Amino acid sequence: MLRLDSPVQYLKGVGPARAAALARLGVGTAEDLLYHLPRRYLDATTVTPIARAALGAEVTLVGRVVSKGVLPTRRGLRIFRAVLQDDSGVIECAWPGQAFLDRVIEPGQILLVTGPVKHFHGRQVVPREQVVLADADEVRGGDNAGWVSAAGQGLVLPVYPATEGLSHRQIRRLIADHLDELVALVRDPLPAEERRAVSVLSLREAFLAVHRPPDVAHAEDGRRRLAFDELLDLQLVVARARLVAERAPRGATFTLKKELTTALKHALPFELTRGQKRAIREITRDMTSDRRMHRLLMGDVGTGKTVVALFAMLLAVENGYQAVFMAPTELLAEQHARTLAQLLAPLGVVPELLVGRLSAREKAAVRRRLREGGARIVVGTHALIEETTAFERLGLVVIDEQHRFGVEQRAALMEKGKAPDVLLLSATPIPRTLALTLYGDLDISALTERPRGRLPVVTGVRGSADREQIYRFIRERCLSGGQAYVVYPVIEESERVDLRAAATMAGELERRLAPLPVGLVHGKMKAEERDRVMRAFRDGELSVLVATTVIEVGIDVPAATVMVIEHAERFGLAQLHQLRGRVGRGSEASHCILISDDPAARRRLKRFARLADGFKIAELDLQERGMGELAGVRQSGGLALRFANLVTDADLVLAARRLALRLLERDPQLASAEFGELRRRIERRYQRGIELFRVG
Ligand code: ADP
Ligand code: MG
Repeated sequence: MLRLDSPVQYLKGVGPARAAALARLGVGTAEDLLYHLPRRYLDATTVTPIARAALGAEVTLVGRVVSKGVLPTRRGLRIFRAVLQDDSGVIECAWPGQAFLDRVIEPGQILLVTGPVKHFHGRQVVPREQVVLADADEVRGGDNAGWVSAAGQGLVLPVYPATEGLSHRQIRRLIADHLDELVALVRDPLPAEERRAVSVLSLREAFLAVHRPPDVAHAEDGRRRLAFDELLDLQLVVARARLVAERAPRGATFTLKKELTTALKHALPFELTRGQKRAIREITRDMTSDRRMHRLLMGDVGTGKTVVALFAMLLAVENGYQAVFMAPTELLAEQHARTLAQLLAPLGVVPELLVGRLSAREKAAVRRRLREGGARIVVGTHALIEETTAFERLGLVVIDEQHRFGVEQRAALMEKGKAPDVLLLSATPIPRTLALTLYGDLDISALTERPRGRLPVVTGVRGSADREQIYRFIRERCLSGGQAYVVYPVIEESERVDLRAAATMAGELERRLAPLPVGLVHGKMKAEERDRVMRAFRDGELSVLVATTVIEVGIDVPAATVMVIEHAERFGLAQLHQLRGRVGRGSEASHCILISDDPAARRRLKRFARLADGFKIAELDLQERGMGELAGVRQSGGLALRFANLVTDADLVLAARRLALRLLERDPQLASAEFGELRRRIERRYQRGIELFRVG
């Protein structure tokens, strides 16, 4: 008896060779075949009778191939030609430069073509696309009426991803032959009322819709249902991961003592933004509740995440715990340590710094103070997760630029305490739908506004021809005490050439801007050397810093007010935004100049120049580049969405999230019989994810 998990070879028409070809497409079972969706659809819903194909019109025709051949032209171009016939007449089709079709198209076949009708010794169709609907032996007695009805009603043709040894036509045939039989085996894990609430098709309807759509809109409805399921499974796994993490034995308990936290509020040299206040409230609620905090604080560079983190750290400290703040580079760690030291000075709390650069003796001393409890707050780099680091009583872990750390590194730091609360910081704002998907196991706070008084960064798009003027501008700025970054993109494919170009440019700038000091940092430098140059820039010893993208996550230099980006077209929008965030940190007006000579790119860059909101830019970036790149923001990976599109299916993401939470509330382990099918599917998609439902 056929089952959904039967090997595909079980199906009629699939022998060992085809099974091997299907395996290459990721199709191993009968069910996989159902989930093998068309890459696209050929919309041939309106088929024109051949006799009525008018000159100049775009038409879809269906006819029998009555003759064919390859015709060389005088200019050496080989044209494949075929004559099509239907009940109404005949027409010639011509495919310039596609002589190989001679091996594909045969007399007697039923062919569908779409394209414009041109004039060349009479009417001639130049197909943009053609599909063999049936081979000669599949058509009975010269009758093509099965393909073209009298009313001119056509069809929507699914075009499947194919592989060597298995054409998309063979796949279409295979799926068409077995569709009804397979769909009959499908059980819908979604109760009808839930389905209606989200207004998606039933699972059976969905498979029929994607594989045998009456029209293209219907196929899209089918895809949406499969996308919803995919998102639901993912949300169930992340929501479950959260449930499990929250119930982990709780080590740290905090109450709002309002000692250090309130003292900090009074000592701050500025007013907190509304977003900061809200984030602090949310964090306080988490930390004083009896669940463990797992919160992500998201906000553009310069939105003031550090001070929010400091409140959390002080809440831990005033409860007798220690707090740790880990950053991805020494420079950042030092910067944070300095900021914290300033803010904490009036409170009498001294933050420690633990970075690789310290001498062995210094490190040992810091570690001793952490172990014995003399130190309450420590800022550092990877040095924090080394085995020799131990805490007397760690209650809170803060990780800056969290995506720069691997899962294991983050976990290693958390294991230094007994289930400490966790606050992750990210300067890469992402759209909410994406955050819910990537970080569904975390709570999210977002800082969307900048501190008041910050001037927006004036962004302009220029070409190479404006170079003189740009240099003059940099010169003026630097002579009056400002500093400038000049970023040169280095891409992997042309790394050597690019690095040379960046170095040449640094030399050129040095000559032109003399006597202003110019420095260069790039990815191929030793870390210490790079740090040395960056420090020199930070301390104002260099006026101009020429850099490859290594400064992307970098430093806070308030005097830097000019950012010049060469070959701006090579950067993604989110990346440009990150770079731009390096300036505009002081009270002086800042400028970002994008240089590009690519006219098409300039339009895109101009659009960017008008936008300041990182969340909006992230959304555009996501639309431009798709998920692939962005998925990198979460190193744990495993986010392979086949059917869902996080930009266009935002409503489904939210609906899936809501439903996942509701189902888990009803049955935290999805143990009851009604969820059997759902569990089976999650197991199929996430071998590891299902483990989460097994733990007690
Ligand atoms: P990021 O979110 O990029 O980590 P930081 O925490 O480094 O931002 O803050 C950037 C700068 O803004 C710091 O110098 C910080 O002291 C300052 N800052 C933070 N919050 C405010 C505020 N509410 N008003 C004025 N300045 C602030
Ligand atoms: Mg920061």
